[in-house]
Amino acid sequence: MNNDYDRNNIFAKILKSEISCTKIDENDNTLAFLDINPQSNIHILIIPKKPYVNIYDFNKNASVNEILDFWKLVNNLIEKQDIKEKGFRIITNSGKDGNQDVMHFHIHLLGGENLGRMITLNS
Ligand code: AMP
Repeated sequence: MNNDYDRNNIFAKILKSEISCTKIDENDNTLAFLDINPQSNIHILIIPKKPYVNIYDFNKNASVNEILDFWKLVNNLIEKQDIKEKGFRIITNSGKDGNQDVMHFHIHLLGGENLGRMITLNS
């Protein structure tokens, strides 16, 4: 395991069923659940079940199967949420400049409404 990984981060606790989540979908290596503080009508978090700190760690150290399962679940969600045609946004925050709050790799799948243009820098 990556030494930088904090075993007690909130998503690690969700994976250990120590705290609950609203599960949307899962496969062997991946879990999808609702963000507790939604920023759009659809706001789903997708995480690998194994411990990776961020997307760089995941891309570098996850197995081919884990990576495949991750992106397969993303596409399943895009189909099931009916946003394939309407559109959506995927965000992953990493580290300090990315303002990552939870140090377990996750992507935000946002949609269900017009999301505006990219990001604005603010304090
Ligand atoms: P990030 O800033 O990319 O690390 O995003 C972390 C996300 O996790 C935020 O959008 C939070 O609203 C979300 N979050 C924090 N705790 C929980 C929780 N217990 N269940 C679901 N989402 C959570």
